[in-house]
Amino acid sequence: MSAYRPIQTLNPTLVNQIAAGEVIERPASVLKELIENSIDAQASQIDIRLDGGGIRRISVTDNGHGISKEDLPLALKTHATSKICSLEELEQVDSMGFRGEALASIASVSYLHLSSRTENSKHAWAITASNQAPEPAHGSVGTRIEVRALFDKVPARRKFLRTERTEYGHCLQTLRRIALAYPNIHFRLTHNDRITANWPVNEFHQRVRDVLGEDFIQQCALVDNEHENIKLFGCIIRPEFASTKKSPQYLYVNGRFVRDYRLQHAIRQAYSDVLHGDRQPTFLLFLYIDPKEVDVNVHPAKHEVRFRNDGAVYRFVLDTLSSTLAKQQPNTYSSNADTSLTKPIPTSYAKTQQQSAWRNHLPPQQTSFDQQWKKLYEPLEYNQQAPLKEQINAPNLGATTTGLANQTTGTGLNQKENFPLGIAIAQLHGIYILSQTEKGLLLIDMHAAHERIVYERLKKSYEQESLASQELLVPVVMQIEEKEVGLIEEHLDQLKALGLKISLSGPQLINIRAIPAMLGQSDVEMMMRQVLKELADIGKVQLVQEQIHHILATMACHGSIRANRALTIEEMNALLRDMEQTERAGLCNHGRPTWHFWHLNDLDKLFLRGQ
Ligand code: ADP
Ligand code: MG
Repeated sequence: MSAYRPIQTLNPTLVNQIAAGEVIERPASVLKELIENSIDAQASQIDIRLDGGGIRRISVTDNGHGISKEDLPLALKTHATSKICSLEELEQVDSMGFRGEALASIASVSYLHLSSRTENSKHAWAITASNQAPEPAHGSVGTRIEVRALFDKVPARRKFLRTERTEYGHCLQTLRRIALAYPNIHFRLTHNDRITANWPVNEFHQRVRDVLGEDFIQQCALVDNEHENIKLFGCIIRPEFASTKKSPQYLYVNGRFVRDYRLQHAIRQAYSDVLHGDRQPTFLLFLYIDPKEVDVNVHPAKHEVRFRNDGAVYRFVLDTLSSTLAKQQPNTYSSNADTSLTKPIPTSYAKTQQQSAWRNHLPPQQTSFDQQWKKLYEPLEYNQQAPLKEQINAPNLGATTTGLANQTTGTGLNQKENFPLGIAIAQLHGIYILSQTEKGLLLIDMHAAHERIVYERLKKSYEQESLASQELLVPVVMQIEEKEVGLIEEHLDQLKALGLKISLSGPQLINIRAIPAMLGQSDVEMMMRQVLKELADIGKVQLVQEQIHHILATMACHGSIRANRALTIEEMNALLRDMEQTERAGLCNHGRPTWHFWHLNDLDKLFLRGQ
């Protein structure tokens, strides 16, 4: 223990240095604060110069409204801000900054030079942290802030900086995040005297292309949904393009980049039954919500937000993304996915409101992928309508396609029909269905496709509490392990809701008396073993929706046509028609594609026809 010391107020520089610890970790955090200030000053052009990964120098020059000579010294004072002046304003803040501590913090851990000029001034004025009396300077309207030798004054923090290259990488990432949200601002980045990014003012889709590359544009699906005071806009990767690599994930709330674990969970949840293996979703999503409904003052770097009604926000995001994904169809023919995303993005909720005619600015059809899907198969007519669908019950294909067979000739269907997934011609190796469409050739993985159909049906009827079970003629008797007896007892009611009627018939014996009618002839015992395994893994009495979906997916997998089962042409066509009516039919329950398409042009190319 040291000797007694009297209580003292900390000197202001030390206070600022402590505060800086929270907000300023590295050059990239300085850059973020400076760029955000330029945005708040309504700049349309922001020039960034970095030397030595930003450790030696960061300068940000903007053409915003500037700071008057009188206000200059205040800009470097803690808790001096022009952005809010009451609690009421804090509650609906829509500027990036509002605490008035960034510049003071940065100035306390570096050598800061600030020059600025407003419209009404004949020249710029400059101050430094050490000399706060403004002196005349050169410069056009706007602000220039230069930060040199970051953390030289605080060696303890300097030690934590990484290599210049790494720090530069962080700076670039910071710039990307901001630039994606502000296509209406021209950004230019120079590192060690080399221009490394130059993104002129552009439409949103062009900015996305500039920042994230052409592939991202090609592989994503457009998201756009609005409900009362909330809106979700942006793009997400189509599942078949997702990869296991660390993928870019950008999430914004009212124009501000955030890491919100709840929202990220909602996004992953939406992908939960369409992503193969450990692939990760890639997304660029902008959530707009009435600023009164969200608290941004949670974290010093403002990376976290809190929603007044976070359950509702969670559901909105989950539902929007699930239905976007449900509509996606894998499309190997998508060579030109460029027609969407051609619109300005609002930077704040207020602006989405100002642009109340938001939707009117948009091209009439937005989802180019939907359009392509339609174009690919136009004209699209189901002129067999409902009766067709009702006649077909995929799990018992053979028994129920008689009605269909009556109307068919040759390949099994009237050749004049134009079905999106075409007309089945043959089965390959007991695994694939070969189908001729109006524009080309389709190959369908019949097990994967059927599995998805059964799964979607199971989910739907489960949700409607109408999952019908069918009594088995001969109950399946199964030997189970001691610990599984408890599992079954605990979950008896839930299993019943899933269409599985089970009774215990001995110390370690169960009777499976009924299974979901949709599963047709499946291997009941295999399925039950899998379900028990799932239950053991979950280890909870009350299953949540995600877990129930998992179990349904397992059941669907076992109740689906296995490879090597010969299908008749009618059965194959019945399966194709069912796929056309099923959401997410392009991917099986494990996220593998269910079909691939080759356009006639592609086939012609293979054979050098017409060349
Ligand atoms: P905050 O952004 O939270 O208000 P800062 O410390 O980042 O706090 O900035 C303090 C003040 O300095 C701002 O409120 C603003 O008035 C002024 N300011 C800072 N940077 C700029 C800029 N680039 N253009 C115009 N004004 C600026
Ligand atoms: Mg600020």
